[in-house]
Amino acid sequence: MSTVEIQKIKFNNNSMSEFIDIFDSRIHEQEKTFVVTANPELVSFANKEPKYFNTLNHADFILPDGIGVVIASKIINQPLKERVAGFDLMGELLKKAENQGLKVYLLGAKESTIEKAYLNIKTQHPKLNIVGKHHGYIDVNDEELVQEMIRLEPDLVFVGLGFPRQEYWIENHLGKFKKGLFMGVGGSFDVWGG
Ligand code: UDP
Repeated sequence: MSTVEIQKIKFNNNSMSEFIDIFDSRIHEQEKTFVVTANPELVSFANKEPKYFNTLNHADFILPDGIGVVIASKIINQPLKERVAGFDLMGELLKKAENQGLKVYLLGAKESTIEKAYLNIKTQHPKLNIVGKHHGYIDVNDEELVQEMIRLEPDLVFVGLGFPRQEYWIENHLGKFKKGLFMGVGGSFDVWGG
């Protein structure tokens, strides 16, 4: 798969629709997938914090979430196809999940926000199978919550704890799940809940 390296971060070079196809087939093959959507702030944090840099090395896909990343790729003459914003990708994946009956779990944001986000997502996607939701003010090592999530067998897990927490959470717990696409979504639940 073609990648472009910007400040030591290897970005996958695909368009939104290509990513959707790739993720669709990985979900159906029950291949576990760790997706990071990286904006310039995240890239610069990873360059300062070796622990986080190491976590990003465990991601299966790093997507360019921010026009700054796309501009940087053009400057080094290895243009990325397009910006793939985390919020937009989440929207596309929710549509897929609704059409295909996939199981979705929502983790993150304040209790009242995730409740509102859940209701708004359900209004837009009435047939979507949201198997569970939980606010994000948790201990990243909270094992009880993880065991409950594993039991629900989600195909898609959206983790909105902000970076670096969300990527640390995914890295810590991904190994325990049998399947699923896990994606950090930053403040997306705040937008859904707004
Ligand atoms: N958040 C969370 N748990 C935490 C800290 C933050 O669920 O321990 C949520 C917060 O409520 C918001 C999202 O993570 O929905 C993004 O948080 P923040 O604005 O701090 O991060 P950024 O947008 O800068 O990535």
